[in-house]
Amino acid sequence: MNGIVANTDRLEQLLKDHFGFTSFRHNQQAIIENVLAGKDSMVLMPTGGGKSICYQLPALAMDGLAIVVSPLIALMKDQVDALHLNGIEAAFLNSTLSLNEQQLILQRLPSQHSPAREDHLKLLYISPERLLGERNFLHYLKENTRVCLFAIDEAHCISSWGHDFRPEYLLLGELKKQFPSVPVVALTATADKRTKEDIIDKLGFSHYTSFENSFNRPNISYYIKPRKHYFEQLCAYLKTHDKDAGIIYCLSRANTEDLAAKLQARGFQAEAYHAGLEKRVRDQRQEQFLRDEIRIIVATIAFGMGINKSNVRYVIHTDMPKNLEGYYQETGRAGRDGLASEAILYYSAADLFKLRNFAKVEDNEEQSAILLQKLRKMADYCELRTCRRKFLLNYFGEAAGNECGSCDVCLTDAVKTDMTIAAQKALSAVSRLQERFGMNYVIDFLRGSSTVKPFHQSLKTWGAGKEFSKDQWRSFLRELIHLGHLQQSEGEYPLLQLTESSWQILRGAQTVLLTTISEEKKVSKERGAG
Ligand code: ADP
Ligand code: ZN
Repeated sequence: MNGIVANTDRLEQLLKDHFGFTSFRHNQQAIIENVLAGKDSMVLMPTGGGKSICYQLPALAMDGLAIVVSPLIALMKDQVDALHLNGIEAAFLNSTLSLNEQQLILQRLPSQHSPAREDHLKLLYISPERLLGERNFLHYLKENTRVCLFAIDEAHCISSWGHDFRPEYLLLGELKKQFPSVPVVALTATADKRTKEDIIDKLGFSHYTSFENSFNRPNISYYIKPRKHYFEQLCAYLKTHDKDAGIIYCLSRANTEDLAAKLQARGFQAEAYHAGLEKRVRDQRQEQFLRDEIRIIVATIAFGMGINKSNVRYVIHTDMPKNLEGYYQETGRAGRDGLASEAILYYSAADLFKLRNFAKVEDNEEQSAILLQKLRKMADYCELRTCRRKFLLNYFGEAAGNECGSCDVCLTDAVKTDMTIAAQKALSAVSRLQERFGMNYVIDFLRGSSTVKPFHQSLKTWGAGKEFSKDQWRSFLRELIHLGHLQQSEGEYPLLQLTESSWQILRGAQTVLLTTISEEKKVSKERGAG
């Protein structure tokens, strides 16, 4: 396909005529120009950033049909309805349609053999299994249809490094082979660096451009609070937000109903939402929430996908999510209007163990290990003593300053103390133990516990760190890891290992400032209503 030279005025005119917007957001325009030039694009944009326009508008500007691959059959209808409202010819093909309905859609595909018609479709939404499964629709398209573009939504599903791997997505590697000259645009809101590279590889992109928007959501503040006795804290918080809308996520369906009932008993306008409820009830509650008739939705993660409510002021998690991808997507539903919003997670260290079972994929050890690794990262985030926003952005492959000023860690008056000596003790313990032990063992060793192996008890550093409690050591070690002065190996039992800067510290060539929160401050922080 020959590229189309995009003219800015023309693109803006299309944006205005078909979508009613006056200007492009983020790098929408650059992405659209890349697509129109016939090149492949890898698009990372946070939820709500405006990914749809990046393929919908090119579909209008180009001659032929744009195929949109999406795994979310339940959302296809909404997207197509929205396009119809904008006067755009679109349809979806999936298992919910009768054969007859499917036949009618085929008749509206722009043909290679005859001229364009008014009622020809511009966009066709389809699931990967329908596109590439048994009946091989791709072959049909190749023979009969003028295809101008493939858009792969939720593109992270193609990668086993992602949190939502769907094997049927792997078939999409066929697209570039069968249609080498048709541009492909892959879009996702959640992909760490490795996942992104994998998407590009699996789709077989060669000449492509990668577009990344900052994932930072500056108007969202992040808080982690202890779960012990959280209900009273939660009520206090909700009281100070009684005019606001918010979402509370729970792990199980039963928990959503329990918590909603308990909140109702306290006079809050809260309703449960989960996939086990009748569709009629779900639709009604969602509708009421959108219209601000229900203030609080207590939901499983089934709630929120495809919902575009701009004035959600807080997102609360009563359990730790399974990975940072999910957490970031859920918290990202707060503050789409750009106003100050809060993400609060009530954390208990036991969550890690509770969730380990969810991280098991039957007969797939490799996949289980990846999920477990993601779960651990999530727990690390909860136990951070450094800026949470920095950690999140780094996780998604983005650089960030050391302090954001709007997460609980940055907001607490944490005192940075010269802890060089403690750091030296810890690092020398790791060195004496030959980097072959995990955090708990190293701490026991430092504290002179008699549970460590007898020959370790004869080493010089055994018991050198009695002055700090286990918890204190744990947070020092975590902070050393985050500062890069220590690292953890991958795998089920991560071992503590030294880094280049460890040696600098051991040699006395570098001082180490660590966070010490005075007990008094810690308590008042935990009690705080905010
Ligand atoms: P995503 O798929 O990235 O989550 P959407 O494509 O659904 O995001 O867009 C999110 C919201 O932003 C939608 O309500 C959409 O209409 C709106 N939007 C997208 N692009 C623009 C724009 N250029 N100007 C104004 N609003 C936009
Ligand atoms: Zn911060």
